[in-house]
Amino acid sequence: EMFDLSGEAAVVTGAGSGLGKAIAEILAQAGASVGLIDVDRERLDAVAAGIEAQGGKTFGVAADVAAVDSIAAAVEDIKDYFGRLDIVFANAGISRGPGFPEAGGTLAGTQQEDWDAVVGVNLNGVFNTLRAASPTIGDGGRIVVTASTAGFRADPMVGYAYVATKAAVLNIVRQAALELAPRGVRINAIAPGPFRTNIAGEGALDAPELNGLWAETIPLGRMAHPDELKGLALLLASGASSFMTGGAYVIDGGALAL
Ligand code: NAD
Repeated sequence: EMFDLSGEAAVVTGAGSGLGKAIAEILAQAGASVGLIDVDRERLDAVAAGIEAQGGKTFGVAADVAAVDSIAAAVEDIKDYFGRLDIVFANAGISRGPGFPEAGGTLAGTQQEDWDAVVGVNLNGVFNTLRAASPTIGDGGRIVVTASTAGFRADPMVGYAYVATKAAVLNIVRQAALELAPRGVRINAIAPGPFRTNIAGEGALDAPELNGLWAETIPLGRMAHPDELKGLALLLASGASSFMTGGAYVIDGGALAL
């Protein structure tokens, strides 16, 4: 029962797709009530319906993590609805424009609106979510931030704003671990390598030329399915990780080992 979340309530941002959907599913399966937050209402409703069909309990709120008031109100609504808040996944994130060597990912080629959008969601959005959750989450709560292997090194697949924001959130996690430890609230980062989600746009990751890339850059030789994040997500969300805080956990098929 180390992994049992019965009676607890969670918030997952970016819950309408990809990794956030997988996280919401495993939390519900472990017994938690799950508050789903996403900018995309249709995606939100689809994920909620799927979890409810499996007997899970959900409450969906359409909100934008990049907007302070929007995410603060959503977290508050979910806390009010379930009467408590124990687990928070600050997971929503975006990627804009190609990496280098294509023009869009170079220093000079980075568009200001792409920079601002990525910083708004991946950095400000994480901070906004943590700031909204910190007074609301109960003592002994658990928080998980979705970073990336791109927070640890250069990554030719993504642009400057993406690598910058993913590195920044790793240190926000360490700073918050210090602040929250006296309350027994633990916070960790996860750093996924390439998972098959909608982040690069529909079908973008299936381009035939990418097959060779995965074989070359990932020891396990392939992209991951979002379900393969569930074990790590449940570990960090549950009492099974009781001595883990301020850390960053890589889940990348061995990519960073190369
Ligand atoms: P995804 O696009 O499949 O899902 C992201 C979800 O977040 C979408 O439903 C989207 O509507 C939502 N979202 C976007 N902006 C939002 C906002 N401002 N407020 C609320 N919701 C918003 O992508 P994903 O791959 O599941 O991404 C989830 C997280 O994982 C991101 O932080 C991403 O950077 C990170 N990540 C992904 C990979 C990968 O290979 N897929 C690798 C490393 C890190």
